[in-house]
Amino acid sequence: MSTIFSQIIEGEIPARIVYEDETTIAFLDANPLAPGHTLVIPKAEYERLNDVPDDVATDLYATIHQLVPAVEDAVDADATTVAFNNGEEAGQEVPHVHCHIVPRFEGDGGGPIHGIAGDVPDLADDELDDIAADIESRA
Ligand code: 5GP
Repeated sequence: MSTIFSQIIEGEIPARIVYEDETTIAFLDANPLAPGHTLVIPKAEYERLNDVPDDVATDLYATIHQLVPAVEDAVDADATTVAFNNGEEAGQEVPHVHCHIVPRFEGDGGGPIHGIAGDVPDLADDELDDIAADIESRA
């Protein structure tokens, strides 16, 4: 079954599309956290960033890079929070990878991305060394 975002791509569900090319598309979020809240997605259905092939990832980043200043300028934002909820446990509701571009304004009452943290771990140096080495070996 295709995701709600694929239905937008197919024109089966209306959306305010702000950009489209061969492999990516961007449209306004239906429940905006701020004016101009935009979603950028690959047209092909991949659930998570981890599933996106290199060439599509390159295209996706290029579209994000193009859209961030466009969104900021359009709504006269002071800044943007640019983020993925990458997986259900991280809050991803639509299983079609998407980047949120959320315009931010001085005094908007929001917080930094650090606000996502629940219990913050107290990691010892050797644990940090092990984690860093493990990531490095897989990258
Ligand atoms: P997630 O929680 O998966 O990272 O974010 C999904 C986002 O998709 C939400 O911000 C939600 O408002 C948005 N959304 C869900 N359904 C639709 C839809 O039908 N159209 C549009 N434009 N956005 C949607």
